[in-house]
Amino acid sequence: MNNQRSIAYFSMEIGLEASIPTYSGGLGVLAGDTIRAAADLNVPMVAVTLLHRKGYFYQRLDANGWQREEPVEWVVEDFLEEMPQRTSVTLEGRTVQLRSWRYEVNGVGGFKVPVYFLDTDLPENSEWDRTLTHFLYGGDQYYRLCQEVILGIGGVRMLRALGYKNIERFHMNEGHASLLTLELLDEEAKKAGGKSITQEDIEAVRAKCVFTTHTPVPAGHDKFPLKLVDQVLGRREVFDMKEIFCCDDLLNMTYLALNLSHYINGVAKKHAEVSKLMFAGYTIDAITNGVHIATWAAKPFQELYDRYIPGWRQDNFSLRYALSIPKQEIWEAHTRAKKRLIFYVNRETNIGMDVDVLTIGFARRATLYKRGDLLFQDIERLKSISLKAGLFQVIYAGKAHPQDQGGKELIRRIFQAKEALRRDVKVVYLENYDMELGKMMTSGVDLWLNTPQPPLEASGTSGMKAAINGIPSLSVLDGWWIEGYIEGITGWSIGENGRGMGESGDRSQDASSLYDKLERVIIPLFYHDRDRFLDVMRHSIALNGSFFNTHRMMQEYVLKAYFR
Ligand SMILES: *Cc1c(COP(=O)(O)O)cnc(C)c1O
Repeated sequence: MNNQRSIAYFSMEIGLEASIPTYSGGLGVLAGDTIRAAADLNVPMVAVTLLHRKGYFYQRLDANGWQREEPVEWVVEDFLEEMPQRTSVTLEGRTVQLRSWRYEVNGVGGFKVPVYFLDTDLPENSEWDRTLTHFLYGGDQYYRLCQEVILGIGGVRMLRALGYKNIERFHMNEGHASLLTLELLDEEAKKAGGKSITQEDIEAVRAKCVFTTHTPVPAGHDKFPLKLVDQVLGRREVFDMKEIFCCDDLLNMTYLALNLSHYINGVAKKHAEVSKLMFAGYTIDAITNGVHIATWAAKPFQELYDRYIPGWRQDNFSLRYALSIPKQEIWEAHTRAKKRLIFYVNRETNIGMDVDVLTIGFARRATLYKRGDLLFQDIERLKSISLKAGLFQVIYAGKAHPQDQGGKELIRRIFQAKEALRRDVKVVYLENYDMELGKMMTSGVDLWLNTPQPPLEASGTSGMKAAINGIPSLSVLDGWWIEGYIEGITGWSIGENGRGMGESGDRSQDASSLYDKLERVIIPLFYHDRDRFLDVMRHSIALNGSFFNTHRMMQEYVLKAYFR
């Protein structure tokens, strides 16, 4: 059985369920959706990640919008099954023992994809080593490097210990897993009986590896001082092989993966272009992200699709037939999903939102480039839009990384705007954004707002979740939206097509475009031409839901990366 698995998928974070807090945002949710798609499509995959026993964090916000973080309390045994096999890695000459826990993702046809969570919290390890798999993206560089050794090197060893001998492809979901290439090089060298690494070994590893890069933000690419790498891993021959190990006195995890992969991709067409500029000389393809539809379609839409599009769970492309679903039925399903969200908001916050009012949603990691406060650039203009064009209300959510001071201040500014608008526009910021809240929000609002600073949004996926629930986006032209938007048909752009593509979006121009679209196009359509608003909703499902899903994405990985 194990011998038949041929794709190993490595990711520092994986979002499987809201109650398993081993993800921080888009990267992890995408990993979960990828695995769910592999299970649906019978792709022989096995996935590896870290346990993150304390999770990312539980977010609390005080009355002023200051974020406090708490470790997430979750009971591992309630969700995962401990495996008996053990392996180890060497860190600074110490042996650190590893165990793993299994979770099985069930595909729509019953095919299973196992996910293994690596764990160092064993009595044989020192107190400090036991914490190495506790916090996702926590600690300093040393802690992070140790985690990446565990994921990359420990992950390959654990797969071998579990009996996975015939893995044909190793897919690195972002550079955190790049050190797996070192373990594979060692395996090749041993197999050839040689002590040192040869060109053939390098070619053999390259043929096995696939690398997906996820961020055009330079700070998002892990780099470690070579001195630290020496200290943790011990001096190795590959550190001096400049064609693999770039550059100077830094180990750049992205370059390591780029140099040792036969297939490299960005996560949207635009992102692949930007990545080619960042990493000149590499061939970088594009596979645009998607979402797993059966996971992200709210119950009322699942029922609607079951009635009108039988087989949609097996064949996501068939969502194009949504064009034949009566608009009234789409409105009814939407209203059910919307009520669920609005009632939740009112119970949690006592703000008294109205189901009949146009509701705008924004939920993202709170970090500066996402510009979550762009909507509040001109408070007086917003008040006047609400007065003249029609009422609207806004629901926010999102966590800032504990060390991202700018992100934390962004949440504060949204709280200040919320106060300033109190009499005119209802705004709430919900605590502790997770997959469950994400699903409720991306199915329960009327309009999904997205305002990143171009070209920094690699893809974005929450707008895709909205689309499969019939919710159009109002978004800056960046990431997936460049491919997904048809003005007035699937949603609306902020800024004109062709402008801002690749250049940085001018903040006040973007805000003013956002206000114009709201005031002149979207609010009037929502209140005075519901039939045409429903046209846009239906096209979101039929044109974007049928394409921006992980079934299409997985098929591209299979054809272009895995079995080539
Ligand atoms: C979908 C999702 C994300 C990613 O959203 P983006 O639009 O890609 O930023 C992040 N966090 C949660 C909880 C999600 O469900």
